[in-house]
Amino acid sequence: MTDKELFDELSYKRENAYEKMSDAEKKDMLGLCDEYREFLDEGKTERECVAKAIEMAEKEGFVNIDDVEKIKCGDKLYKINRGKNILLTVIGSEDIKNGINIVGAHIDSPRLDLKQNPLYESNGMALLKTHYYGGIKKYQWTTIPLSIHGVIYTRDGQKITLCIGENDSDPVFCITDLLPHLAKDQMSKKLADGIEGENLNVLIGGMPIGDDDVKEKVKFGILKILNERYNVTESSFLSAEIEIVPAFKARNIGFDESFIGAYGQDDRVCAFTTLKGIFSVNAPKRTALAILVDKEEIGSEGNTGMLSAFFPMTLAEIIEKLTGKCGVTDYNEVIANSACLSSDVGAALDPNYENVSEKRNASFAGGGIAVMKYTGARGKSSSSDASSEFVYEIGKILDEDGVVWQTGELGKVDQGGGGTIAQYVANLNMDVIDCGVPVLSMHSPFEVTAKSDVYMAYRAYKAFYNGR
Ligand code: MN
Ligand code: MN
Repeated sequence: MTDKELFDELSYKRENAYEKMSDAEKKDMLGLCDEYREFLDEGKTERECVAKAIEMAEKEGFVNIDDVEKIKCGDKLYKINRGKNILLTVIGSEDIKNGINIVGAHIDSPRLDLKQNPLYESNGMALLKTHYYGGIKKYQWTTIPLSIHGVIYTRDGQKITLCIGENDSDPVFCITDLLPHLAKDQMSKKLADGIEGENLNVLIGGMPIGDDDVKEKVKFGILKILNERYNVTESSFLSAEIEIVPAFKARNIGFDESFIGAYGQDDRVCAFTTLKGIFSVNAPKRTALAILVDKEEIGSEGNTGMLSAFFPMTLAEIIEKLTGKCGVTDYNEVIANSACLSSDVGAALDPNYENVSEKRNASFAGGGIAVMKYTGARGKSSSSDASSEFVYEIGKILDEDGVVWQTGELGKVDQGGGGTIAQYVANLNMDVIDCGVPVLSMHSPFEVTAKSDVYMAYRAYKAFYNGR
């Protein structure tokens, strides 16, 4: 053996997932990514993602656990939480007290929410006031086509589901920005202050109607349209839950079509691959469980977030319906022996902004699924730091299955950071590690992922469910 051969054998080298894939795997990847783009187009809100997940799960033979009294090995079940959070499970043959294999992803994404009293007229135009949700760079949300999604009640109490701006024949909406000719003051501000939160107002109309006694004729026109089409009045907005998201569809990027560009890939890329992962499970040894949560982007609080008791309550329901009882000790044993992949995206190194990353420990688009021992910020604060034992175990499962993976730390030390659901799962007393697809332009209206990483995420979740 030459010294070079020995050096190569002793040192760690990153892999490129595309280079490692067989032709059959590449074909699989393209099919998976075609389906993934459809998933993104049909699921632009947490509610739409849950509806899509139910549709996909039922096709795979999953049934609602509420309709089942007793469950047994091989059963495929789901449970819905308020239409915004869903849990799926495939019951294993082994005693559930030995623990279960969990993959958790989130299905909420940064966006603009309508305020509760949003509609107003100004200078001959009708607009809607918003309050942004999650961490956004506000300037990215102006001058792009936007669509309206959500839920609103009619005066007689009927729930209407809105989705306007997604069909090619639909109108879209937008937030205007200042022309460069008049932007001298704006352009000299800090980037963060260039667009103010209170200026993220959505243009929705400009046609005045009615006689001169009507004070706000444009607003009147909009109210009449809303009333005729949806049977709602202005006060219907008070209880509405309406999200403004980019109106464009997911696309392939590049001459070689190696990337996917779309809104909401954080974290629907992991949600989709988690679903495909659990759909690959049939009568496993250990029970497999997938949970798609809401509210991660605002701290996981709330009854549909990871901090909600929905997960422990549903796990107790599963244990009881499977074994006939769920005492505290039974439950504790299941939790302590379980393991979880917190499947959430990481930051891919951006060639335009290399200096915020530390290259030896950054994740790269195309480098495979990123396994992140810890997240957090400033000295690993607010992070679940996975144990060496667990990182080794997961790495081994991935290696044995030929999954290309890399590590990934979110930027240089003290450059910033971020959290996931991992810490909240870990707090239950369970092994958990973050892993997911590296993303470029994260939290922007058009996030970018490498198809090979999407595929490797799916392969990783499949290997974890089937091989642990
Ligand atoms: Mn995320
Ligand atoms: Mn995020």
